[in-house]
Amino acid sequence: MKKEYDYLIVGSGLFGSVFAHEATKRGKKCLVIDKRNHLGGNVYCENVEGINVHKYGAHIFHTNDETIWNYVNQFAKFNHYVNSPTALSKGKLYNLPFNMNTFYQLWGTKTPQEAHDKINKQIEEYGTNNPKNLEEQALSLVGKDIYEALIKEYTEKQWGRKTTELPAFIIKRLPVRFTFNNNYFNDKYQGIPVGGYNKIINGLLENIECKTNIDYFQNREHYDSIAHKTVFTGKIDEFFNFEHGMLEYRSLRFENEILDTDNFQGNAVVNYNDAEVPYTRIIEHKHFEFGNQKKTVITREYPENWTPEKEAYYPINDEKNQQIFNIYQKMAEKINNTIFGGRLAEYKYYDMHQIIGSALMHVKKEFKE
Ligand code: FAD
Repeated sequence: MKKEYDYLIVGSGLFGSVFAHEATKRGKKCLVIDKRNHLGGNVYCENVEGINVHKYGAHIFHTNDETIWNYVNQFAKFNHYVNSPTALSKGKLYNLPFNMNTFYQLWGTKTPQEAHDKINKQIEEYGTNNPKNLEEQALSLVGKDIYEALIKEYTEKQWGRKTTELPAFIIKRLPVRFTFNNNYFNDKYQGIPVGGYNKIINGLLENIECKTNIDYFQNREHYDSIAHKTVFTGKIDEFFNFEHGMLEYRSLRFENEILDTDNFQGNAVVNYNDAEVPYTRIIEHKHFEFGNQKKTVITREYPENWTPEKEAYYPINDEKNQQIFNIYQKMAEKINNTIFGGRLAEYKYYDMHQIIGSALMHVKKEFKE
């Protein structure tokens, strides 16, 4: 039977948009649907007071892969923003990631040797060979002072559990840098798209039919009937009617405020480590684009337990959830006319460059290139 579309793409985040763009380039007819009232998924920006507000949390693009960098640069120019967060702990400000500036702020150490000696001594004193939980893991990697000032309370807020009750694997590595370098990422390429992420999404979806406010599951039969194949980027457990259980997530709540000042905190990202402060960080969006607007928009980020009516942000890849996911993944492999991709369908935390890489890989496979 002749169908109206070659591909129905469920979800207009980066995965769905890259796939739609590449399939259209190859002469295929696509329809993109999204249940939200806008396109772009979690990278969507909302314009408030002339400032691009990252609606679903701060997004900084970074990659080591030149192909991916060139790919995104087709759609937007990138500025020279370098992520250099600061952290407030017990009334003192520290630079991140842990580097010579942080060590000076903690201990007054001025040379790499002094900092090395201090950290090694603390690891010897407080570390263990076989860390059984996140606290022991952190103490074994960086010692007591860094752990107590900059890891413990922040991590407990993030996960809503004591570090002694969290598994050690959550922090495999804690990079320490013995140079005065506050650049959070080690990647070769980094920046924010000039004009915001919507520019990239609009470029990817140019001349492609898109419909918002459409939940695939509200009219599944109809949508399945109009396209030869589906690219599904929603929740994999929902696709299978949760028949083997519901996958769990960690959620976030964002509280935005417009302030009548041109500069609230002097940096895009400030972490709040102390347990008494209920949020983990404040984002001041204008600094991502070196904005000089008269006002500013800040967002307080509150970690939250997830319930099905909330946004699902971070997958909880523990044993229980991973086992459930593995069952769904096996079921998905048996469905020939559906491609499952993206952070929700693969139940995996992906950075933006990884999602683009994954979508391009699926394209190559699909078009046998
Ligand atoms: P999404 O963007 O979530 O898109 C999926 C889309 O599918 C959504 O629009 C959703 O509405 C739609 N959908 C779902 N179900 C249905 C349905 N039933 N019917 C119709 N539509 C449906 N990455 C970085 O590289 N740098 C960062 O600094 C960074 N910061 C982040 C901060 C936070 C708080 C989070 C959570 C993630 C961050 N990321 C960052 C990761 C980045 O957001 C993801 O890599 C990327 O957005 C994933 O794209 P996606 O297409 O897989 O998913």
